[in-house]
Amino acid sequence: MFKREELIPSAEEILDRLPLPAELKKIKAERDRLASEVIRGETDKLLVIIGPCSAHESKPVLDYVERLGRLNEKVKDKIVLVPRIYTNKPRTKGVGYKGMFTQPDPKSREDILKGILTIRQLHIDAIGASGLSAADEMLYPENYAYVEDLLTYIAIGARSSENQMHRLVASGIELPVGIKNPMSGSIPVLLNSIYAAQSGGQVFKYQNWQVRTTGNELAHAVLRGAVDGYGNDIPNFHYETVMKVIEGYSQTGLKHPAIVIDANHSNSGKQFRQQIRIVEEVLGNRLYDKDFKKYVKGFMIESFIEEGNQKEDVVYGKSITDPCLGWADSERLVLDIAEKV
Ligand code: PEP
Ligand code: MN
Repeated sequence: MFKREELIPSAEEILDRLPLPAELKKIKAERDRLASEVIRGETDKLLVIIGPCSAHESKPVLDYVERLGRLNEKVKDKIVLVPRIYTNKPRTKGVGYKGMFTQPDPKSREDILKGILTIRQLHIDAIGASGLSAADEMLYPENYAYVEDLLTYIAIGARSSENQMHRLVASGIELPVGIKNPMSGSIPVLLNSIYAAQSGGQVFKYQNWQVRTTGNELAHAVLRGAVDGYGNDIPNFHYETVMKVIEGYSQTGLKHPAIVIDANHSNSGKQFRQQIRIVEEVLGNRLYDKDFKKYVKGFMIESFIEEGNQKEDVVYGKSITDPCLGWADSERLVLDIAEKV
């Protein structure tokens, strides 16, 4: 049984109630252009999607993105920086904290309407504070409409990449959509998802409408490592594995083939400091092999103000989900990436 708790206004009503101011719209459009250019291969810049695993409170996230905004001034000729502001969290066992969208205050009960308004305000304030528009995970495709005017990069998580609705909605988005390999690590499944997202003419029900999409040629792969049948992490950022993905890509005829390496999750085994070594290894491989360089167009890095994670929100600027690099290491790593692009 579904006990009705509260009627949630439509996305159109919410966007009218809390619109993105005109001057920030201009910034967002320019950031969209820069990020799309990387995926299209129209620039040698790398895309770096960086930030906490989850945004559980606005203040430290705004503090963090302000720092990213300053860092951006030093690296903008080499890197397109996109803050990770993840407001929806998938859970391995389906229970627990599900992100600001559902629970705007992790210490209080769920409140979705307040959650929607809180995350819209956070994304708007973050653009204002940093001059950068963010990435978020599209965990519930129908909720994408509540933030569609605010994001520059949309991720489809490992637990969602085989899902029809995620693929269909991705096919209507005109921005880079990073699709993670599924937990199994299956590359054919990943390439099929990208194929579906790139295909136009898909008809389905979305936001009370029958819609027909145009296809999204900016849908691409994010390699996050896999988990085997015994629960062991299997990295997929190493040269040999990435080259297999490139080989698979080259047989598909997909547009703008691109790979983003997620340095945390099953690539690091959530040993967050290993993200530094992983990024360094991938940068080395880019220098070693022209094809590798052509396909590998970015990184996803989990980073916050304080390193590591905590069970409950006690320490300011510390993740309450996956462990993250701290600010000093993150800044050093981004500067290093800029040097080695
Ligand atoms: C994440 O990016 O924090 C995440 C949950 O990723 P994945 O879907 O790869 O587990
Ligand atoms: Mn994470």
